[in-house]
Amino acid sequence: MLEKVVIANRGEIGLRILRACRELGIKTVAAHSTVDRDLKHVRLADESVCIGPPPSAESYLNIPAIISVAEVTDAVGIHPGYGFLSENADFAERVERSGFVFIGPRAETIRLMGDKVSAITMMKKAGVPCVPGSDGPVGDDPDQTLRIARDIGYPVIIKASGGGGGRGMRVVHAEASLLTAISLTKAEAGAAFGNETVYIEKYLEHPRHIEFQVLADQHGNAIHLGERDCSMQRRHQKVVEESPAPGITAEQRNRMGELCARACREIGYHGAGTFEFLYENGEFYFIEMNTRIQVEHPVTEMVTGIDIVKQQLLIASGEVLSYRQQDVTMTGHAIECRLNAEDARTFMPCPGKITQYHPPGGPGIRVDSHIYNGYTVPPYYDSMIGKLIAHGETRASALARMRNALVEIVIDGIKTNIMLHRDICDDAAFAAGGTNIHYLEKKLGL
Ligand code: ADP
Repeated sequence: MLEKVVIANRGEIGLRILRACRELGIKTVAAHSTVDRDLKHVRLADESVCIGPPPSAESYLNIPAIISVAEVTDAVGIHPGYGFLSENADFAERVERSGFVFIGPRAETIRLMGDKVSAITMMKKAGVPCVPGSDGPVGDDPDQTLRIARDIGYPVIIKASGGGGGRGMRVVHAEASLLTAISLTKAEAGAAFGNETVYIEKYLEHPRHIEFQVLADQHGNAIHLGERDCSMQRRHQKVVEESPAPGITAEQRNRMGELCARACREIGYHGAGTFEFLYENGEFYFIEMNTRIQVEHPVTEMVTGIDIVKQQLLIASGEVLSYRQQDVTMTGHAIECRLNAEDARTFMPCPGKITQYHPPGGPGIRVDSHIYNGYTVPPYYDSMIGKLIAHGETRASALARMRNALVEIVIDGIKTNIMLHRDICDDAAFAAGGTNIHYLEKKLGL
């Protein structure tokens, strides 16, 4: 077992990693920026080391500083959480070269799956269904590009191979705007991701976003933990997630889940990971793989009873997966609402001091959050301040518990999106289940 782990992240996921380490008897080191001294996990960790000033580029993205923390504290592993350096293959490589364990897959796997074009090529080889598209990067010949898009059929979506976080995508409805859209997306992708490569996919008009959670060890064993529905999105960013996905049959789950687990075995994947799909007219289409823990992992934990962060630590320690596929069962239903410090109308981040905080409770309620009375949400990072998760025997009971929790919870002093979540939970179409990725924006009149 890893003896000591550096938590190279902040906020709720920093605390989540700390809790998993504690349970396993692993010592913790919180690597934090100057503004994050008072974060809950920093206070609770066995050791803490300041890695730099508030801007992420100088702290949470500062690779030498984070590796130095492991060196000076004699830590064995580094957990990157999500965001920041979690999908940075160079970071994973430098961690391993410095003699530490990167808690995640191998650097080459991160590189392979981090590039969407190579990920799609790999998945096709493994027999995973993908969105009809350009089968590789868009080349320099405009005639050929026009032909490819015509064959796919409009509308199409231009996507940056190195894109992420919902950025680097552009929908094209007619041939007249294709080439301009490609140049614009290329320029943006070059500036944002340092990689101008773009590819074309069929733009699916009414899909749902359904993703499969996998766990794979270093000994060739891989299993899936079922799926999550993350269709409630704004600007391609998830707002509410749930597991299982409404209407997905056990046959579909087993078939798709097994395809994902098999793909893991084929690429020598290890760690926790997620295969993201769009789902339309009963068909799944792979869009990308995330090679890290995801924000929405708790809904899967609630229905399977498997602690995914603990599994990451066990896998990184070299243990054999203690679950076989037949050991995984899904019980009941879980829903997660992402709590953000943001303006309800403009969605602009609203950092500031929390003057009152009353967390909700009761059967089936879980709150993953680092906030407390008097905590100041800094302006430098993502506006997510926590996650509210409700589990119930049925989807209806999970939803009823979530509604209660959203009424009980009090966060004063800053603006939050609690009202938005109440609206979503009271929405008849959401209550019925199976809304698509455009539903929320339409509902909001965007
Ligand atoms: P990112 O890495 O930025 O999250 P993804 O490839 O995962 O990008 O896509 C994010 C979201 O964008 C999806 O959940 C979906 O809402 C939308 N999207 C991506 N590809 C398509 C497509 N081919 N058709 C329709 N919507 C898409």
